[in-house]
Amino acid sequence: MGLFNLSENDKFKIGNHLKEKIWNIRDDIHELENILEGITHFLLSRKKLDDVTKDLWISDVSALSYNTISAWEMLKSVSDGYIEHLDKSKNYLFNARSLLAKSISQLAYYKEELAQNLIEELKSSFEKCWSVFFDIFNILTPEKKNSGVIKRVIKVSDSEYHLPCSICGKIAVECKIGYGHFDKQESLVYSGITHSRSLSKSLANKLFKILKKEDLSGVHSFMKEYLCFEGMDAYCPECDKIYCWEHYNARVEYDDGFYDCTMGECPAGHRRMIDD
Ligand SMILES: [Zn+2]
Ligand SMILES: [Zn+2]
Repeated sequence: MGLFNLSENDKFKIGNHLKEKIWNIRDDIHELENILEGITHFLLSRKKLDDVTKDLWISDVSALSYNTISAWEMLKSVSDGYIEHLDKSKNYLFNARSLLAKSISQLAYYKEELAQNLIEELKSSFEKCWSVFFDIFNILTPEKKNSGVIKRVIKVSDSEYHLPCSICGKIAVECKIGYGHFDKQESLVYSGITHSRSLSKSLANKLFKILKKEDLSGVHSFMKEYLCFEGMDAYCPECDKIYCWEHYNARVEYDDGFYDCTMGECPAGHRRMIDD
């Protein structure tokens, strides 16, 4: 963890105006907090749910609050020079947006008007926070130098390939021979933007041949055949490009509080289910 050296790169010199803007997000978060408190009271006062489910749903509301506040804490530390906390701030905010979708799906379980009103308030308050955060993210995100030369495929070694986001260059997909979380033996490990899974090592040569040719559509077909119906989660078939979680604008969807799927919408507006 290194303190960012302002003299090395003027791009990250953060003016007082921006610092103030970051500080002022506090007001929007405060408004969100009030609404979340109202939702907690609402959930506590309903008799329709058993206590265990109720506790789970209330803890989702707290987690939404925690992730939004953490995104803000990280952003404040960026303004103190820790530019590497920018990605952490974004990740907290993405988590918060997933939890927002979860809480909304839970509130929708109640068919009463009060629940509908809470959903509307929650949505608009979070959107406000989201947009002030992103105003600042966009100012702080360093432009990728030579953005024209982001590679389609990066060969790390004979047994490891990385696929960078076509917009920001961040690694979105890794395919390598190694050990997945629960693997007892070496496997072909796929790590995408929504999940990691292990495939039989015997498939590695077939995949690496396709990767060598930088044939992303071929990799997608391969994943459709061996990994899952949705294929490669970070890939937009219509653009023939890779996107990271942020640039695929990935959104988790819930049904009555249960994970349903993840949808991606690329910058060109192509939308598809990327995880089920
Ligand atoms: Zn990206
Ligand atoms: Zn697309």
